Amino acid sequence: MIAAIYDVHTHDLDRANAVVNLPLGAAVPPEGCYSVGIHPWDAGMADGAAVRWLRESAADSRVVAIGETGFDALRGGDMDRQEELFREHASLSRIYGKPMIIHNVRGTDRLISIRRELRPAEPWIIHGFRGKPELARQLVREGFYLSVGERFNRDSLAEIPAERLLLESDDSAVDVREIARMVGTGLRDVSYLLGNGR
Ligand SMILES: [Zn+2]
Repeated sequence: MIAAIYDVHTHDLDRANAVVNLPLGAAVPPEGCYSVGIHPWDAGMADGAAVRWLRESAADSRVVAIGETGFDALRGGDMDRQEELFREHASLSRIYGKPMIIHNVRGTDRLISIRRELRPAEPWIIHGFRGKPELARQLVREGFYLSVGERFNRDSLAEIPAERLLLESDDSAVDVREIARMVGTGLRDVSYLLGNGR
């Protein structure tokens, strides 16, 4: 069993009850819950050593989610390389039964077509979701979970069923408790969605 998790994605190593995203190449600390991934912004410089680190860390029991990974058409360089890396993460997610934390900037079409192809059993969580209601509706219909942080589109909340809506602090200084108040949900323990929590 892992601790209660209210914050599904943060980069702050000091946050409690959170999935802390480790920097590329970092060792997994002895305590806590972590995610490991190669951010799409780093896709261009991700070499064999980075992929080896990803594979080794993904197997660690303190790593409860894979990512962030995903697509960024503005900052991630070659989209085919991003997709190659995304598929590597998806396969680790499947092997270890750990959900995906997904960064998506103008990558929705690729994400949807890969999801339809792979039909993953693990949650695929689009983090930092700020999209419009139409996009929220489409992604929910395709089976994605949506995680919202400090900035979000209030009109989109109505499109996201409670069990698909997650909260995160990401790189914000605002605590997830405050974000829960802003979003209007209570704090919910989502550890049951994570690897090793089942
Ligand atoms: Zn992040």
